[in-house]
Amino acid sequence: MTVAVVGGGIVGMATAYFLRQRDVEVVVLERSNVGAGSTERAVGGIREQFSTPVNVGLSQASMEVWDTFEEEFGVDIEHRRIGYMFLAREEGTAEELRETAEMQRDLGVDIEVLDPAGAREHADVHDGNYRLATYGRRDGIADPHLALQGFSTAAQEAGTEVRTHTAVTDVVRDGARVAGVETDDGRVDAEYVVNAAGPWAGRVAAMAGLDLPISPQRRQVGVVAPEKPVPEDTPLTFDMDTGVYFLPDREGDALVGGHFTDPDERDPDRYPTDYDIDWAVEALERAADCAEYFGPEAGIRQGWSGLYAVTPDHHPIIEETLPGFVNAVGFSGHGFMHSPATGQLVTEMIVDGEPRSVDISALGTDRFEGVGAGREEKNVL
Ligand SMILES: Cc1cc2nc3c(=O)[nH]c(=O)nc-3n(C[C@H](O)[C@H](O)[C@H](O)COP(=O)(O)OP(=O)(O)OC[C@H]3O[C@@H](n4cnc5c(N)ncnc54)[C@H](O)[C@@H]3O)c2cc1C
Repeated sequence: MTVAVVGGGIVGMATAYFLRQRDVEVVVLERSNVGAGSTERAVGGIREQFSTPVNVGLSQASMEVWDTFEEEFGVDIEHRRIGYMFLAREEGTAEELRETAEMQRDLGVDIEVLDPAGAREHADVHDGNYRLATYGRRDGIADPHLALQGFSTAAQEAGTEVRTHTAVTDVVRDGARVAGVETDDGRVDAEYVVNAAGPWAGRVAAMAGLDLPISPQRRQVGVVAPEKPVPEDTPLTFDMDTGVYFLPDREGDALVGGHFTDPDERDPDRYPTDYDIDWAVEALERAADCAEYFGPEAGIRQGWSGLYAVTPDHHPIIEETLPGFVNAVGFSGHGFMHSPATGQLVTEMIVDGEPRSVDISALGTDRFEGVGAGREEKNVL
């Protein structure tokens, strides 16, 4: 059996790796270079703190892989458990965090609910602005580039063929079933096609006649020289009510991100990949209102932007939507951290006939006609 994976980002490469573990022939088709999509633009957050059980499940299954990545793949992905801290200003937000923490605890997530003074033990936040925080000690960050190299190298050493600068231009059908893909470098026959095309996923799905609700949305990140160095063990700290987040970067610098405007849908083939000055000013103001590191002397050194692939409920679609056509798409800001579980689940679908390791019945396309997975917080990274 041959599987054609469309897209050489972290989802495509993790999928290729796990398929090869089960002796499936795999060819990855990548229109540009490996990692050229969203993956190399991610900040590398890994967390278990999610608002719905299915996302917690994807995190927990992925965490098992991240925990042993260096042993399995021989690559140090600089996984640092600095924790994630979510902050609530409004009572409604605090109540949501309390309820979510209860659900997470029932699922085995290591989560603490903190008062503002407790939050200050982890980061120099303006505690007077906040009512409550949650802190997940197992959460943290890793380097997406190194992780992608780890999956990619292991997949290729195990026999995966990776064809870069090869764009998929059509999906070939044989009756109801998928039979392969057309590329700008000829046809590839395959029993299964996996759509792992990130922000381009809607276009690839359209080649198979599917109309998936995936919107490529621009997100910006700034590298900030703060007024006061951000210690390297500071958690990734997220203000739920203003949408700004920050995390420690090298030598006391911070990465600051967040999305403060209406949906910012972009064409993945042409969008500005640097940052906007207006956005940076607003991000710094919001960061200064969150924590003491960012006063008027703080400045932006550089920045970048990339695209989230966003579905209406901010959950991915992981599903064999047509016979032989598997979608692994729509990960918003979670596709890096959830790539190990996704690769395993897609492999189970193809080899075992059904996904086994996580209950992903909520992640099919049928939910867009009324079957809901529950809504993830739209601002959260
Ligand atoms: C600013 C920012 C910060 C983020 N931070 C985090 C974070 O902290 N944690 C986290 O988990 N996630 C984060 N994300 C999200 C994460 O980057 C994505 O969810 C993840 O990289 C998606 O991986 P992917 O493999 O699905 O897509 P991509 O990495 O986009 O890969 C898709 C690939 O498909 C290729 N392709 C597209 N069309 C075709 C075609 N027709 N033929 C062949 N190839 C094709 C593209 O060239 C691309 O290389 C962030 C994203 C952004 C933009």
